[in-house]
Amino acid sequence: MTTLALGMPTVRRSPAEAPPTDGRPDVPGLIDRFGRVAHDLRISITSACSLRCTYCMPAEGLPVIPRDELLSATEIARLVGIAVHDLGVREVRFTGGEPLTRGDLVDIIALSAAAAPGTPLSMTTNGIGLDRSAQALKDAGLARVNVSLDTLDREHFTRLTRRDRLPRVLDGIAAAHRAGLGPLKINAVAMRETLHDAPALLAWAIDHGCRLRFIEQMPLDADETWKRDNMVAAEELLEVLRTRFTLEAAGRDDPSAPAEEWLVDGGPATGGIIASGTRSFCSACDRTRLTAEGTVRSCLFGDDETDLRGMLRAGASDAELADRGRAAMWGKQAGHGIDAADFVRPARSMGGIGG
Ligand code: SAM
Ligand code: SF4
Repeated sequence: MTTLALGMPTVRRSPAEAPPTDGRPDVPGLIDRFGRVAHDLRISITSACSLRCTYCMPAEGLPVIPRDELLSATEIARLVGIAVHDLGVREVRFTGGEPLTRGDLVDIIALSAAAAPGTPLSMTTNGIGLDRSAQALKDAGLARVNVSLDTLDREHFTRLTRRDRLPRVLDGIAAAHRAGLGPLKINAVAMRETLHDAPALLAWAIDHGCRLRFIEQMPLDADETWKRDNMVAAEELLEVLRTRFTLEAAGRDDPSAPAEEWLVDGGPATGGIIASGTRSFCSACDRTRLTAEGTVRSCLFGDDETDLRGMLRAGASDAELADRGRAAMWGKQAGHGIDAADFVRPARSMGGIGG
């Protein structure tokens, strides 16, 4: 097996160096050596956060990224324009850290919407502060939000996120509904501590017009406590959900959708499970990522990053930036490699990459 198949970073090189492109056909899109094409761009805009979820952040938070090392709203929008017009990106999702902690978020959305008119812009958020900004974000061009909510039990929420802020998340979800930021999806990481809260969360999501997707925990927590043996696998979660609902497999919304859907009590309501660990969908992955500091990271698990910020600030043309983006994608690894005996966790945790 090659190191590539094991999901290890391909080549250790400086992010400022152009990645090798030997064998890459001269096509405009974001293709990789395994024939995958990226259409979905995730952009992290900060590593700061208002929560400290144990599966993501350390208790003290991640180190603050100095302001001049973050991409500015104008720089983000320029890269969004290049991604859509030159590289075939069809959907852009803002994430972090917590995007709502960024004071210029409305500008980021408005400038990105202007740079790529008609492209769906969405955001993954913990919902804290959304009650105040949902309408402004909608007016700026945000189409919809995914809100992360793991449990409705306030004590469990407080323990998991290290902050007593469940009511604020629920206020944020209500505001997103009012502003029309839908269809609203809820992301819930399946954790052992909250496993038995899962049926109530699913019932609540259905009652509140949200599409719930449970996510298997990935080894991307800053505290490095993830253990394969302790992870709640999709099968175990399904067993717990079936104590309250009948569930019928309904497949994926599209072949590259990470969530497998289940019809709840005969439908039409559904619940989704993103089984990144036990039913890996790496072979159908259509994502690429940009970190808050402006490096392309084509895989969550690949430490091999390619800097665009330096080029951008040195006056690179759109064509040069697009070429660097294509080269970065060509080097994408085959998969996360979690199951390999010699799996090595990525250096960055989820909050530093952008989930
Ligand atoms: N702060 C925002 C939020 O929580 O939605 C956006 C950033 S967060 C890193 C993006 C998504 O990653 C969230 O839905 C979160 O639950 C998920 N996530 C974080 N750490 C994870 C892990 N170790 N495994 C699986 N999902 C994780
Ligand atoms: Fe913050 Fe989101 Fe990570 Fe939770 S999952 S600590 S809300 S970035």
